[in-house]
Amino acid sequence: MIRRAALVTGSTSGIGLGIAKALAGAGYDIMLNGFGSATQVSAAVSDLAAAGVRVEYNDADMSKPSEIRALVQATKDAFGRLDVLVNNAGIQHVARTEAFPEDKWDAILAINLSAVFHATKAALPHMQKEGWGRVINVASVHGRVASEGKCAYVAAKHGVIGLTKAVALENANAGITANAICPGWVETPLALQQVAARAAASGLSEAEEAELLVGEKQPMKRFTSPSSIGALAVFLCSDAADTITGSEQVIDGGWLAQ
Ligand code: NAD
Repeated sequence: MIRRAALVTGSTSGIGLGIAKALAGAGYDIMLNGFGSATQVSAAVSDLAAAGVRVEYNDADMSKPSEIRALVQATKDAFGRLDVLVNNAGIQHVARTEAFPEDKWDAILAINLSAVFHATKAALPHMQKEGWGRVINVASVHGRVASEGKCAYVAAKHGVIGLTKAVALENANAGITANAICPGWVETPLALQQVAARAAASGLSEAEEAELLVGEKQPMKRFTSPSSIGALAVFLCSDAADTITGSEQVIDGGWLAQ
């Protein structure tokens, strides 16, 4: 049986690590990417390798197109194939539009949107050659609706959903699917740093602020776990999902049902 290979960007932490763990558990060789200390990276590599798959790490900066292209090539070189691309790396900054720092706008657009284009462009020829591929873009409910203070993030995530659909159409009969995952609140450092900032401003405890933050948007007042997002990604790679393409897989505690 073919052992397939997956590249998961931004997989040293949070959702990316959850997806990488789930794909390793499902038998995929994994290219990890993202920032982190040597200890954090080697712990992630050995944790995933315990599933009996090959695991490599590459520290490409997803704001730099040349490093993204090199990351895709490094994955092909390491495993001899690249079947699954998970575009997950992302950052956040919260400020009203009139006060939004221009360098934060540029960084969010580069990492959360343009990197998805650069990685997909570089990966597609490998998938097209094999006649099989999965592109999974970690978007957000903010690819469908907005929240105040998140102009760059909302713009980038709406862009990711549009890009996902374009890639899906172009590859509809090439054995390649492209889908977006749209989480609501997921318990990761990216979300918890927003909880900490609010707790510092309000004087409430982080637990109290977490419940308030999630409850402001979600009828279901709890975080989704990174492992649930991982299970969804594994499903999108399965044969059962081979006609799911161009879709937005919402996993949001009811956020968008309102
Ligand atoms: P996180 O901060 O825990 O992880 C982000 C990952 O991206 C880390 O591995 C980090 O090192 C990496 N990264 C950041 N900048 C990078 C760069 N320039 N180059 C390479 N790697 C870089 O965040 P998370 O919550 O796990 O977010 C992952 C994705 O999920 C993001 O695209 C985010 O927008 C999306 N998302 C998160 C939530 C949530 O509630 N946490 C909700 C919806 C969508």
